[in-house]
Amino acid sequence: MNVPFVDLKAQYVNIKDEIDSAIQQVIDSTAFIGGFFVNRFRQEFADYIGVKHCIPCGNGTDALMLTLMAMGIGHGDEVIVPANSFIATSEAVTAAGADVVFCDVDDKTNNIDTKVLEKKITPNTKAIIAVHLYGNPADMKAIMEIAQKHQLKVIEDAAQAHGALYNGKKIGTLADAACFSFYPGKNLGAYGDGGAVVTNNDELAKKIKMLANHGRIEKYNHEFEGFNSRLDGLQAAVLSVKLKHLNDWTESRRRIAKLYSDNLTGIGDIRDPFEDQANYAVYHLYVIKTAHRDALKTFLENKGIKCGIHYPIGLPFLKAYQHLNHSYDDFPMTAKNQKEVLSLPMFPELTDEQIEYVINSIKEYFNQ
Ligand SMILES: *Cc1c(COP(=O)(O)O)cnc(C)c1O
Repeated sequence: MNVPFVDLKAQYVNIKDEIDSAIQQVIDSTAFIGGFFVNRFRQEFADYIGVKHCIPCGNGTDALMLTLMAMGIGHGDEVIVPANSFIATSEAVTAAGADVVFCDVDDKTNNIDTKVLEKKITPNTKAIIAVHLYGNPADMKAIMEIAQKHQLKVIEDAAQAHGALYNGKKIGTLADAACFSFYPGKNLGAYGDGGAVVTNNDELAKKIKMLANHGRIEKYNHEFEGFNSRLDGLQAAVLSVKLKHLNDWTESRRRIAKLYSDNLTGIGDIRDPFEDQANYAVYHLYVIKTAHRDALKTFLENKGIKCGIHYPIGLPFLKAYQHLNHSYDDFPMTAKNQKEVLSLPMFPELTDEQIEYVINSIKEYFNQ
């Protein structure tokens, strides 16, 4: 049996009529840039998250960069980010002109370790980016307390966490602003690149909107230089269709995660992902940890099961950051994770047969 890591085609087949008609409507009305479909999705996503403002933009990386810049963060400023994330989180800091400061992650949550976070703060620190990695909420209470004590801005990197809840509150409403990605493989994914910032701050929203659109409010009245970072009409129309299904898809992800966890705990040295009962994780990825990661991955691949590693090289250890001269000792948990994490197939359309096959194959590996 073949089990892909994600299957975007399976999802499309289920909603083909809705998607095809939405795309045709955009073409018929030629609302390619701005216009009806982008405005509609802007409102729908703001309502879904429960915030005043949603500013759609070109992608999740831009969302982070534009937010930092709109906050006035740049040259000489430091921004703290988790050492285990996708590079977009730290790239955005550099793109804004500021300096990246990495913080190790917590073994249980895989998110920024709030026990070491405060030690990373210097007089130059301006902000913290809290990533809700794998769709599992970061410890926002502790992060916000530290930020308030030191008067720092907090940005949620919610690129993997559409619809997640922290203590009953929607991810995206817990800090100064939150950034989403609509990359096709994300929980809410477009058919191309896309992203958005959400915030309740009027001034910040206005600034981000202008930055994303050549520094203007009116057509040729540019108050400053900005960027061209827009969500296009076709992507917005696709996202409006998919947003209606997001809660059902999230429930499917959680059901699959529970099946995995119920059946894999106690197998070999596997540690299943931790979920705080007060939260609602959305399992963008289902990540187990095992000292036998590489051998298990190869074993599963030979049985037709595709897995992922998120991430094989922690951010501080990438060549891109070698100028910071970090060693594994600086981020022991990130160093350990990169050898042990394994992402199992996870997408809402996984069949029970596929799930069972993955579970049985893992058992088979540890029984041999
Ligand atoms: C995907 C992702 C991003 C960037 O989103 P793009 O839309 O691909 O630019 C940022 N942060 C995290 C944690 C991500 O997973």
